[in-house]
Amino acid sequence: MPAFDLVVIGCGGGPNETNLSSYFLKTHDASWNEGIISIEAGSGLGALERVLQNNPGLLESPRSAAEVLSWIRSYLITHAHLDHVSGLVLAAGSLNGPTRRILSTRDVLKDIQGIFSDRLWPNLASWNSRDPSAPLLYSQLTISERYAPVAKDVSVRVMPISHGQTSTQQTYDSSAFFVRHDPSSKQLLFFGDVEPDSLSTKPRTIDVWRVAAPMIPRALDTIFIECSYPAGRPNEQLYGHLSPEHLAAELSALAQEVAKLRNNGTAQVLRGVRVYITHCKDDLAGQYHEPIHLVIATQVRNLVDQQNLGVEIIAAEQGMQITI
Ligand SMILES: [Zn+2]
Ligand SMILES: [Zn+2]
Repeated sequence: MPAFDLVVIGCGGGPNETNLSSYFLKTHDASWNEGIISIEAGSGLGALERVLQNNPGLLESPRSAAEVLSWIRSYLITHAHLDHVSGLVLAAGSLNGPTRRILSTRDVLKDIQGIFSDRLWPNLASWNSRDPSAPLLYSQLTISERYAPVAKDVSVRVMPISHGQTSTQQTYDSSAFFVRHDPSSKQLLFFGDVEPDSLSTKPRTIDVWRVAAPMIPRALDTIFIECSYPAGRPNEQLYGHLSPEHLAAELSALAQEVAKLRNNGTAQVLRGVRVYITHCKDDLAGQYHEPIHLVIATQVRNLVDQQNLGVEIIAAEQGMQITI
């Protein structure tokens, strides 16, 4: 019995605003109108309308995109860059339904608070769960080994990861989420934007791999991770993101952690694991004949196949339905 259903509303890395990070999740045995967890909220109404036009039967044939948005009960946000939050900001004052929670680390919530400042945007979010006027409620996820309940049968563990440096040379934090289906203990692992550990002044992806390794593949067989740029991109131009060479190195680091636990070599050690490539930046120069997410996924696949890790590499695509 599967644990989760996920629909990709947007999965690009920008700048095209109609396909920004946004993933709708529910438990497999519930229906969409019983409540959606939106992992990231870069795209909103426009992207959802586009997805439903292409496949009206998706999400149980809703009357409208706005109706689907009204089913969102919580947003799980990895970091507050605009391509991950603009959908929730633009819709904040327009949606029917009960208060929605924004679930993030304290720092990310503080950043989002800077948007709902009555200047950039009206203040439509509150820290007080008894404030009936606010359509959005800040709900802090504490960085710890514990899983926090976020919906019926769903809990989340958040881990900080590094996403480049600010103009003042501070490491910019993003998040990785382990999302657990409590009845079955099945999980998925979702990365926000992330830089290579090999280039980071604060390498923390390895910590995520160490937590993931013992669960692979029985409890954890699905990973969403970014690969913003195609192969050959110089390190100085990654701006806190991964390229195929670096993602292959990261998956090799995961494979080594799993191999250590099994007292084994890394050959085929990630068999049964599916890695969805997300956040590919648009090919504005028109350099490639194929869509950029397919180009990048092929490059990643070729590199990991050389290492014989056994992992399956899939390009996330807008409108894709994934059963986990
Ligand atoms: Zn970012
Ligand atoms: Zn981004």
